[in-house]
Amino acid sequence: MADLSGQHSEIVLNSLPAEKLTEHTFLHLPQEICGVLLGTTTAGGIQIEQFIPIRNVAPDPLHSFLLNPAEWVPHALNTKQLIGIVHSHPKSNPTPSTEDLDRLHLYAGMLKTYLICTPEPITSTLIIHAYHIVRNMDTGTSRYYLHQAPLTIAQIGI
Ligand SMILES: [Zn+2]
Repeated sequence: MADLSGQHSEIVLNSLPAEKLTEHTFLHLPQEICGVLLGTTTAGGIQIEQFIPIRNVAPDPLHSFLLNPAEWVPHALNTKQLIGIVHSHPKSNPTPSTEDLDRLHLYAGMLKTYLICTPEPITSTLIIHAYHIVRNMDTGTSRYYLHQAPLTIAQIGI
C-alpha cells in the first residue's frame, strides 16, 4: 500500500495560472498551444504556481506542438523553478498521443508533471489532465510513460 514514489501524489494548479491557461488556449484556437509550468514540490505533491506561454513552432501547429527553443531553453536551464510543461489538444481528449509519448524523453528528465488540456467551447471551460512522468526501469532502455494524477484547482494566490 505504501506509496514511496510520490507518483500518485496530488497535483495542485493555482487558479491564476489556470485562468491564464484557459484564456491562452481559447485565444489560439484552432492551433495547439504550449508552455512551461513553474512551481514547487511539496511534501504532499506538486504545486503549479505559474504558466508561461511559449510559442508553438511545430510545422503543423493544428496537430502538434514544438516549444520555441529560444524561449524554452532558458527555462530548461532553470530547473529549480521548472516543474512541467503543458500543451493543448483542441480537437481531441486530453490524453497523450503516440507522438507525445514518443517525444517525452526530450523533456522527461527535467520535469515533474505533464499537463494536457482540451477546450470545451460550449461552456468556455478547459478540461485539464495532469500526469506524472514515470520512468520504466524494468527494460533498461529508460522508456518514459505518463501516469494520470488527481488535479485540484486551488483558489489561492490572488
Ligand atoms: Zn499532444
